[in-house]
Amino acid sequence: MLSIPFDNSYARLPKGMFARQNPVPVSTPDMIAFNDDLAAELGITGTDDPKLALYFAGSRVPEGAEPLAQLYSGHQFGSFNPNLGDGRAVLLGEVIDQNGQRRDIQLKGSGQTPFSRRGDGRAWLGPVLREYIVSEAMFALGVPTTRALAATRTGDPVFRETALPGAVLTRVAASHIRVGTFQAFYARNDIDNLSALFDHARDRHYPQARDASDFLQSVIEAQAALVAHWMSLGFIHGVMNTDNCAISGETIDYGPCAFLDGFDAGKVFSSIDHRGRYAYVAQADIIVWNMAQLASALVPLMPNAEAAVEQFTAQIHAMPALIRANWLGRFGAKLGLAAPAPDDADLITDLLTLMQNCGADFTNTFRGLTQDDIPTELRAMEGYADWHAAWQERLQDEQDAPQRMDATNPVLIPRNHRIEEMISAATNGDDTLFHRLHRALKSPFAADPEFADLTQPPAPEEEVEATFCGT
Ligand code: AMP
Ligand code: MG
Repeated sequence: MLSIPFDNSYARLPKGMFARQNPVPVSTPDMIAFNDDLAAELGITGTDDPKLALYFAGSRVPEGAEPLAQLYSGHQFGSFNPNLGDGRAVLLGEVIDQNGQRRDIQLKGSGQTPFSRRGDGRAWLGPVLREYIVSEAMFALGVPTTRALAATRTGDPVFRETALPGAVLTRVAASHIRVGTFQAFYARNDIDNLSALFDHARDRHYPQARDASDFLQSVIEAQAALVAHWMSLGFIHGVMNTDNCAISGETIDYGPCAFLDGFDAGKVFSSIDHRGRYAYVAQADIIVWNMAQLASALVPLMPNAEAAVEQFTAQIHAMPALIRANWLGRFGAKLGLAAPAPDDADLITDLLTLMQNCGADFTNTFRGLTQDDIPTELRAMEGYADWHAAWQERLQDEQDAPQRMDATNPVLIPRNHRIEEMISAATNGDDTLFHRLHRALKSPFAADPEFADLTQPPAPEEEVEATFCGT
């Protein structure tokens, strides 16, 4: 029988921070994918249980779970909404994993909660499979991220523009505490719950932090590293609202996310991001804005508000340099440099400019540099030969550059047109593309001839212009 070693702590926090809510049962739970490795890491046993799908579709509550929906707020595209919260998800509970880390287990798409507002509380198959594939690919790429434990069909239709198959994703996270969770209690001037949340989040993620300023600094450092890591892989999150920004520093809430094919710094995929607020290159600015929102919410936790504002402002103002340093380290390594200096930034931006001007494929360009197998359109660019000579000269004193490059420049990323193709097939009941994509992306730095087709950029007619919110 399925056994999950729950050790719940959020359920012990003050009542105003969440609502107890069971997942809503579904018609015919059917398991699409179950992550055995992750289950083992979490200490979950009995996964051969014939009723496994029922638990992960929300039709049965596992022993020891204390399902709840968390309250949070958030700035959505810059406007503050105090009343968000888990409107289509429930936290089943937490486990202490094999490494001693506390992890949340959440069902997403599990039905209505007190925070659903006008929503149906459900998810359709497409975004569930997208999140499964992309979050697991991010993990394999070495990026801090929430994980996917299971994906289950519900057997019930979900009505969007048309009727679509419903599904539930089981998500595992270091926690689901967001910038917006702090904002919720700050906006309500509920200092007791703000303090309770702070103590909980600090003990869980940054136990060395002595006060709110230290805590803020830890989150700033984690987010600066995360966003630079995203950018080094051509990843666009798509909805960096403050409610989609995790305190832990994990990537969370994969909605209209996508990886760049051809390099374009201004690229936007989200169909609702009309002004490019969350464009590829804007991510480095918007994360600073998000951290400023967290800083505001932490002010009441400091003994002197005026001194806190001054201190926090200095911390926020120092963040762009931190992002820049992370960016330099990541992109420097992609060019083979062990310890890139600020002077090396030009080498990186010159290459990116050439790539931008011909739309060279981001992933294949960087990977191709070690094999001298770069896209022909880039090779044909005026200035490329000079750039290449300057790069070669800079590499003279570097040891192990090819190894460093092969460990930081993936062969495989989850390309958007492949994800769309996989979702179409799965919507018609065929999960083979899902399983193939998932298997390929387990080793994104290995050049496996079996998956050579997945390294190809989209043909013009295959290009996906927009991705849509998971709703
Ligand atoms: P997201 O855009 O997924 O980050 O969600 C933003 C907010 O909308 C969160 O409070 C979600 O819980 C809520 N939400 C999104 N989709 C639904 C849905 N289908 N039913 C209820 N609430 C939803
Ligand atoms: Mg969200």
